[in-house]
This record gives sequence, C-alpha cells and structure tokens, in this order.
Amino acid sequence: MKLLIKNAKFFENDLLVKKDILIENKIIKKISQMIEVNEKDLLVYEANNKFITPGLIDVHVHTREPGYEYKEDLKSVTRSALVGGVTTFCAMANLNPVPDNVEDYLKIKKMIKEKSFLNIFQMCAATKKLNSDELVDFESLSKAGAKYFSNDGFGIQKKEVMKKILKQIKKTNSIISIHLETESIKKDGYIDDCSLAKKYNLNTFSQDSEVEQLKRDIELLKDINCNYHVGHLTTKKSIDLIREHKKSLNITCEVTPNHLILQSEMFNKNSGLFRINPPIRKEEDRLALIKGLQDGTIDCIATDHAPHHWDEKNVEFDKANFGMIGLDFSFSILYTELVKKNLLSLSELIKKMHSNPNKIFNLKQNIIAEKENANLVVWDLEEEFEINENFIKSKSKNTPFLNKKLFGKNKLTIFEGEIKWKDD
Ligand SMILES: [Zn+2]
Repeated sequence: MKLLIKNAKFFENDLLVKKDILIENKIIKKISQMIEVNEKDLLVYEANNKFITPGLIDVHVHTREPGYEYKEDLKSVTRSALVGGVTTFCAMANLNPVPDNVEDYLKIKKMIKEKSFLNIFQMCAATKKLNSDELVDFESLSKAGAKYFSNDGFGIQKKEVMKKILKQIKKTNSIISIHLETESIKKDGYIDDCSLAKKYNLNTFSQDSEVEQLKRDIELLKDINCNYHVGHLTTKKSIDLIREHKKSLNITCEVTPNHLILQSEMFNKNSGLFRINPPIRKEEDRLALIKGLQDGTIDCIATDHAPHHWDEKNVEFDKANFGMIGLDFSFSILYTELVKKNLLSLSELIKKMHSNPNKIFNLKQNIIAEKENANLVVWDLEEEFEINENFIKSKSKNTPFLNKKLFGKNKLTIFEGEIKWKDD
C-alpha cells in the first residue's frame, strides 16, 4: 500500500516542521515540503493541523499471556497499544511459565510472533521463578536473543545475589530493569501512609522499601557499572539519589503516568483501583517526579500497564491486586496533565515516550526519517474525549481515570506502512 500524509506537523531534529510523508512498502520513502504523486492506488491522508509522533515506546508492560489470559492476552494488549499510539513495548516476565530459561523464552517469543504484530520485546527473569536467589543462565539466554532482564514485582533481596546479577548484566552487555522493594520493610503493607489509610486502618509501608535497595545498588554499581534501569520510581529521596549519582554511574530510570498525576491524599474512597506497587506517594513526591522529568534525572515514562480482572480490583483496598492499566491513554493523559499545564513541553514528552527509551534500550525503532520503517501516529491535540470502558481496548478496565476527559486523541496508528488503527 502507498500512503501519502499531507501537511504533517512533527519534530525534526527538535524543530517543529510541516511536511508531506510518503510511505511505500512498509517504509518512509520520502519526506519533503511538497510531494505530488499521481497514482491510482495511492491513499492520501490530509493531516492538516494534526500532529505526528513516532510510534511510542513503552518499556514496562504486563501482557499476561501466557498464563493469565483472563486479564489480558497478546491480541488485546496489541489493540490497547495501538489505540494508545504505542508500536513498540517491552513485556515483563511475570508470566506462566516464567521466561527464566531458553526453552520457555523461545516459546513465548514464538507466541508473540504468531498472535501480535507490533514490536514486542520479551524480558526474561533475572532469577529463577522471579523471586528465588538462583540466577538464570544469562549467557545462554543472551545467545538466544534475550537483551532485557527484570524481576518486576519482586525486589532482589540479597546484596550478594544482586552483585552476581549485575556482573552477568555487564558480561552479556544486557539491560536490567529494577523493581526496588525491600520485603523486610514492606511486610504486608500495601498503601502509603495517608489519611485514607488512617481512616480505614489500612496497612502502610514506608518509602524506605524503595530507597534502601537503591542505596545498596548504587554502592554495587560503583564497582560494576552495568546498564541499570530503575522501573517505576516513586519517591523524592530516590530521585535525589539518582540525580546525585547519574553523572558518574550508568543509571537510567522511568516513572509511570499514575505516579505523576495521582497523590495519596486524592484517594476519595476505599477502592482497590488505587492500589499499585510501588504505591502512589505524597504530593511532595509527585512534584519531585515532575521536577525529575524536567531536569532530565528521569529519562522516560512507561505505563507499567498491569491489567487485572474486574473482581480483583473493584473491591476494597485491602482485598485488591496491585496494578493499573495505562497503555490505551498514556500519551493523552500526559499531554493533558503535563503539556497543557506547561509542566513539560510537547517535544520533551516525546523524548520521554520515544527517543530516550529508544536510546536506553537500544531499540532503534520508529524514527521519522526516510528509509525507516513507517511506524507513526497521527494525533488531534485539540480534540477532547473521555476515557470510558468503550474507549479502552485492553481486556481490563482497572484504572481510577475512568470517565476522565482528556485532550490529544489518536486518529491513526500506522505500523509498517499499514493503518492498523483508525478513529472513525
Ligand atoms: Zn510492572
């Protein structure tokens, strides 16, 4: 298929330009001020006043297949990504079976190829079953193509185990995405200390659960400076620590839209929808996360899209599973809450949702340039819409943002030159 997008507004080397984009045989054939083509099979899309981004990249997604298809599966997560303008993502390893060996890793990779068509990079566990102290075979997994490792959902408790993991990450030149959680501090806590927790006597746990492991790892990184990426950071103290060590150590980090928009005093009812791990923190933490984004301490934004069944979330706080979805509307909610409120520029938002994750995870995906794969998203930044159950394409609807009105509607997602999602 040949597709000509006329008058597309996008960032080219940080400059906002308005150009035509010709797509042919999956790739961007030409970008120019004015492209005229007179061919019968050409589809022309007039993008006037609409804004184009590369297909967004989300480095923290829970696909739930194999093992938990009642929450989400590869087909539904693909639809969810497409409506959210995401064409490349990294899938977390808390699946059943856990990709902690070559056979299961390859099995899941094959499944991804058969059931979805986006760029999905499957992460492998760093230790067997995710929560043991027995390391996976990093070398054989790397030889089989694995580049990303994560025990997301479980912190690595022992310093000695973490040291061995970091050495393997360095040796195989792979990347680890870290979930910072100290079990001896967290115990059975599930919420930050806040007025809702007091009112309903909910078990809290302190920020030190995150901060203490980060301190430990920073000491280890001084000896073993490998590719160390922190997933879903939440506290001011962690941001300050990373800011202090970022120049000398190879630490990168991400934050979720949920932690950027919500703070624990906003909890207006005893609802499991607010329960995530790590938890939503205080206003001063939220403001520190925004500052971290602005000054470059925080490199990227990833959703931690964590689908659950209705019954697992629409219960009281203490009975719910941890997690929120976010893949369907991450760009729109951040455009509305950060860009429109002048907290982050549009080009910075795109850096956090495309260029930086692309660079850090060495993905080489979705670049708007000639000869590159045509993975693009057309947004109407002026159009207002509501996040409701109909809009969400994920199997799960577990978000406290239901019925929220947003700006920045995805009109078209193009993957490898084909229109894969269109807002009609
Ligand atoms: Zn996660």
